[in-house]
Amino acid sequence: MSEKVQQFASDNYSGICPEAFEYLVQANKYHEQAYGEDHWTARVCDRLRSLFEIDCEVFFVFNGTAANSLSLASLCQSYHSIICHEMAHAETDECGAPEFFSNGSKILVGSGENGKLTPESIEKLVLKRTDVHYPKPKVISLTQSTEVGTVYTREELLDIRNMADKYSLKLHMDGARFANALARMGSAPKEISWQCGIDILCLGGTKNGLAVGDAILIFDKALAEDFEYRCKQAGQLASKMRFLSAPWLGLMEGDVWLKNASNANKRASDLGRYLSEIPDVSVMFPVEANAVFVEMPQQIIQALHDKGWHFYTFIGEGGVRLMCSWDTSAETVEFFIADLKEVV
Ligand SMILES: *Cc1c(COP(=O)(O)O)cnc(C)c1O
Repeated sequence: MSEKVQQFASDNYSGICPEAFEYLVQANKYHEQAYGEDHWTARVCDRLRSLFEIDCEVFFVFNGTAANSLSLASLCQSYHSIICHEMAHAETDECGAPEFFSNGSKILVGSGENGKLTPESIEKLVLKRTDVHYPKPKVISLTQSTEVGTVYTREELLDIRNMADKYSLKLHMDGARFANALARMGSAPKEISWQCGIDILCLGGTKNGLAVGDAILIFDKALAEDFEYRCKQAGQLASKMRFLSAPWLGLMEGDVWLKNASNANKRASDLGRYLSEIPDVSVMFPVEANAVFVEMPQQIIQALHDKGWHFYTFIGEGGVRLMCSWDTSAETVEFFIADLKEVV
């Protein structure tokens, strides 16, 4: 068993990117107002508004679970329901936080190939029951890029928006890896968010190179009413807010967030290509962002673990999940493939 410098278990195994780190240092020089009244937070909010080309409301919370569940709670009453893919983080990895923070809104799980919810699946859930005895569907939650490393195209997003309009549903996007989707698509941020009718975007920072923290962008300002109270009550209002907000400047200046995401995507695509050439190993989903899912025999999985590689086998539909990070190096990919070739 050898010590690995980098792992494929998750993109949150990585550290802080230097550009973001530099802003932690900058924001540490002087006293500042607390609870988000500081000038760093104002600067970052403005920067996000110009990046997304819209005058939206912006909030910062400690993690993605809080971002998703507080956003979803703000879109729902307790008697409403939230439609998401069966593999969605909100359903499988948030310990019931969306239901908890919404005081009981029910999650209804839909399906679709490659981790993507389809308009048909949404409609089926909406029409399954329309009586008062069943929680009324109110929000669709989409993950971009998805839990299995695929990316909704703009057309797919617009089709879902049409379905949402048909039944007066709001649209939430879990963008823990929004940057990876954006880097893949080469679009402007607005083109795959509010211009596709996304009402609230949870924009992930942690997996993109921050120490901690995700941003919530509420495009329809009316939906942001009292949102700061929701954050505070949930224990998500940072008193030294500048340390959550300022590092975003490091990500946004010079498009570092896209460079970070592109590196992760590139490593995943290389890894996927190498893996597809190895007998006994099969790639499960198209590699469109920074995740590669593969099926391989149990003894090979064990042999890789024995060689010191960490990765999960229970996410999505099962199989081995290999995540690349903003700093995953070409060497790490080569080492992994070399170790794998030794054990097959
Ligand atoms: C990582 C992740 C989140 C956020 O998870 P936290 O651990 O709460 O920060 C949200 N959605 C998806 C799809 C994720 O992969």
